[in-house]
Amino acid sequence: MRYISTRGAAPALGFEDVLLTGLATDGGLYVPESLPHFTLEEIRSWRGLSYSELAFNVMYPFVEDAIPAADFRAMLDETYDVFTHGAVAPLVQLDSNEWVLELFRGPTLAFKDFALQLLGRLLDYVLERRNQHVVIMGATSGDTGSAAIEGCRRCTHVDIFILHPHERVSEVQRRQMTTVKGDNIHNIAVRGNFDDCQRMVKASFGDQSFLGGKTQLAAVNSINWARIMAQIVYYFHASLALGGPDRSVSFSVPTGNFGDIFAGYLARQMGLPINQLVIATNRNDILHRFMSGNRYEQKTLEHTLSPSMDIMVSSNFERLLFDLYGRDGAAVKELLENAQKGPVSIDDYRWKHVRKLFDSAAVDDKATSDTIREIYQQNEYLLDPHTAIGVKAARECRRDRSVPMVTLGTAHPAKFPDAVKQSGVAVKPQLPGHLSDLFEREEAFTVLDDDIATVQQFIAEHWKHA
Ligand SMILES: *Cc1c(COP(=O)(O)O)cnc(C)c1O
Repeated sequence: MRYISTRGAAPALGFEDVLLTGLATDGGLYVPESLPHFTLEEIRSWRGLSYSELAFNVMYPFVEDAIPAADFRAMLDETYDVFTHGAVAPLVQLDSNEWVLELFRGPTLAFKDFALQLLGRLLDYVLERRNQHVVIMGATSGDTGSAAIEGCRRCTHVDIFILHPHERVSEVQRRQMTTVKGDNIHNIAVRGNFDDCQRMVKASFGDQSFLGGKTQLAAVNSINWARIMAQIVYYFHASLALGGPDRSVSFSVPTGNFGDIFAGYLARQMGLPINQLVIATNRNDILHRFMSGNRYEQKTLEHTLSPSMDIMVSSNFERLLFDLYGRDGAAVKELLENAQKGPVSIDDYRWKHVRKLFDSAAVDDKATSDTIREIYQQNEYLLDPHTAIGVKAARECRRDRSVPMVTLGTAHPAKFPDAVKQSGVAVKPQLPGHLSDLFEREEAFTVLDDDIATVQQFIAEHWKHA
């Protein structure tokens, strides 16, 4: 399998190089040159497989040139063994033919564990073989940082530096990052906001000379193809549990960077019968505004009850645009460059096509709170604010009640106790057993000024073989 850039002007790469690269050299994102396609008969034969066996069948075509089958199987067994439920991603019923797919049974209680637990193992495997080392540098406003740290804690060829805005992430989120022990784990609290952190990360990728040529940076945000790949699997898993592929299933996906829902689009392209794919956003609703009015326009950031979806632009949307434009990288490049300058629209026939692929809804904080409270009153089941947005959007957009509607449960409610409290639900969500002593664990992090030279010097001095 070869991978090509969405802007059409970077060299095609194999899986290993795509794994280790961030953006393509032309500024685009890597996508597979062609997708594997599974017949209904093949998909049907996967009924009853364990999550890890299913993951092998869905993902192996993407990695087969780089990793022997037995090694990949072993890696997947290890990856999904750390989840705290036998089904790895269990379904919970909310109402008639309405479900939540719980994707928060991993170590950090958010769906990002599905991809980052695998990514850490993939990186270490490939780096061991190449006898190389990388430094992961990332900025986080919450969930990505802890999932990336957990995913890399046992890596011997990776040092990880995660920047978070000092005193601006929730205590649960901070402790999930800062209490993980390991000499390759480095938490930096920056005296600034999330954008300041992200700006320093971007600039450091652009000029890596501060590392003295002795190692290189690797990316763990969802521009990394391997993350998208790992998320395709659970669409197959949920469908098979609900009678697929002989029955089509709909999904509602709480969306920020468009990574998770793009994986659902790929599952459909690979042959899985999916009826509706609902884009569920909060008030940062650039995608919903585009879907409803063919106007792609950045607005200022709003802080909501669902902070992991507080984004201004959705970087993975570029991967969808590439398909919408018949894989014409030059056209994608032009469109996105124009979008930097002001609002853009696409040709009417392309817009009509994308509206057939996706439904969308934007959900504000009040509706988020109402949904948390209603579902609790009805079922004594607690939703986190991101999942609540998915459930609300699913109910708004649903067309056919005979088709199962599955909302992706992207986080455990105990990660967002304040949002649960604000909704008026009187019970406090409890952290699962493996994190019950989180507030007693010792933290380790370094506070640094919002100054790129200071941060880069810290990294240059602290990675393992510096
Ligand atoms: C990251 C995240 C999202 C958004 O996922 P994208 O792939 O960026 O669309 C939604 N909910 C939670 C809890 C998250 O951590």
